[in-house]
Amino acid sequence: MARSGPPKGGARRIGLFGGTFDPIHVGHLRAAQEVKEAFDLSEVIFILAAVPPHKVPHPLIATADRWEMVKLAIAGNPAFTLSDIEIRREGRSYSIETISYYRRTLAQGEELFFIIGADAFCEIETWKDYPQLFTLCDFIVISRPEFDPLQAPIFASAGFKQETHARFRHPSGHAVFILDVTPCRISSTEIRRITEEGKAITYLVPATVEAYIMQKRLYQV
Ligand code: ATP
Ligand code: MG
Repeated sequence: MARSGPPKGGARRIGLFGGTFDPIHVGHLRAAQEVKEAFDLSEVIFILAAVPPHKVPHPLIATADRWEMVKLAIAGNPAFTLSDIEIRREGRSYSIETISYYRRTLAQGEELFFIIGADAFCEIETWKDYPQLFTLCDFIVISRPEFDPLQAPIFASAGFKQETHARFRHPSGHAVFILDVTPCRISSTEIRRITEEGKAITYLVPATVEAYIMQKRLYQV
């Protein structure tokens, strides 16, 4: 258990899990499940990122397709939901705005967590208004093979104090927790590459997502 939490049935805890999900894969899903259990979250909200077309390094996949695939992947799990907040916004979307939005929706006593992979966390200093991010909510950094979250430059630069091997305290009082999830080497880049090569992505993504990709001939050249 990464954190001593309120008794079950206490205040609601909500996790925000952002990504391009291009496509969503079992690495995302299993990590989200393990975070939910470790932090006793009532809900994990998948936040689909808007990707400006010029940023997409491969044949453009419509946002609607990424959306459908996340929907298919989380179907049947009442604790997993999908938010369109970033794709509804005009122009580029930033996590600082998303977190601020969700903070405003919180009821008394509810808690907000931002879930991020170790690779993204190691680059968080490239994010808009990154020093303010840690003043808004607690962060949960999930492990990812080949990235060491303990080496994230932000820990040395933003006044964090290490409290335990897996908990850092920001001067604002908010914490960054490191959670070791079952290592999973899968990435969306890899899924796209395998599909492009005409090989099967069976068991790397949910069967419904695989069927969707095949039916719509996504990621195939
Ligand atoms: P891409 O290869 O296109 O960057 P990705 O697999 O990294 O895709 P993203 O949508 O970029 O997927 O990731 C969303 C979030 O999930 C990020 O915070 C990322 O670090 C995390 N994440 C993705 N794959 C894994 C994995 N296998 N294990 C742990 N975290 C992951
Ligand atoms: Mg990524």
